[in-house]
Amino acid sequence: MNVILLGPPGSGKGTIARLIQDNLGIRHISTGDLLRKEILEGTRLGKQIEPVLASGKLVDNHVVAKVLSKAIIGAKNGFVLDGFPRNSEQARILEKILRETKQKIDLVLELKVNDNAIVQRLSSRRQCEKCHRVYGLNAPPKKSGVCNDDEGKLFQRKDDTPIVIRDRLEIYRKETAPLLKHFSEKTSVEKIDAGKSITEVYKEAAKKISGLGGS
Ligand code: AMP
Repeated sequence: MNVILLGPPGSGKGTIARLIQDNLGIRHISTGDLLRKEILEGTRLGKQIEPVLASGKLVDNHVVAKVLSKAIIGAKNGFVLDGFPRNSEQARILEKILRETKQKIDLVLELKVNDNAIVQRLSSRRQCEKCHRVYGLNAPPKKSGVCNDDEGKLFQRKDDTPIVIRDRLEIYRKETAPLLKHFSEKTSVEKIDAGKSITEVYKEAAKKISGLGGS
């Protein structure tokens, strides 16, 4: 089962994808996490892309595609994509990778949420440096600043500031949202109200995945 989560920054894609991975065994692939890992490890690529991520702009399509392609090949039991594709060229790149690996997208889930909720969620968001688990107002860590799972240090993303959040929303509207029409011509696209609680959103997502024969 291969799923794409599409939704603006702060719609909960990472949190929901992680729950899908933990409960349904479908690999969570976040291009944002893969790129941030390069930065945290201080690789050559990481140094090159650090200012791009901090500005909220998009990293070069082919750079992201390379990182993504490796992750897709490693996901033997299907994947849930979070943060890719973000524009029409990336949709074409994804379709090429899938053709080459003889796979297809089974479902696109659109996470819908209003802008006020997004700004509130993103300004309070913290993430684990080690395992990338996300915390926020609705899901705080047990101990402030420390991950519940592995005691990793929690950090605030440089792109979670009000000005950068507005730019990221603008990029989503212009470049990513039109992909919903593109995918609706090829596969099943379902909407979810992502303004609800994490548990409710996850249940809804799991129901839609199971409805298509996912585990
Ligand atoms: P995310 O964690 O998905 O919000 O992504 C954080 C940042 O990583 C984005 O603002 C971009 O700078 C970069 N990024 C993540 N995914 C992509 C992508 N598919 N294409 C280009 N840049 C990306």
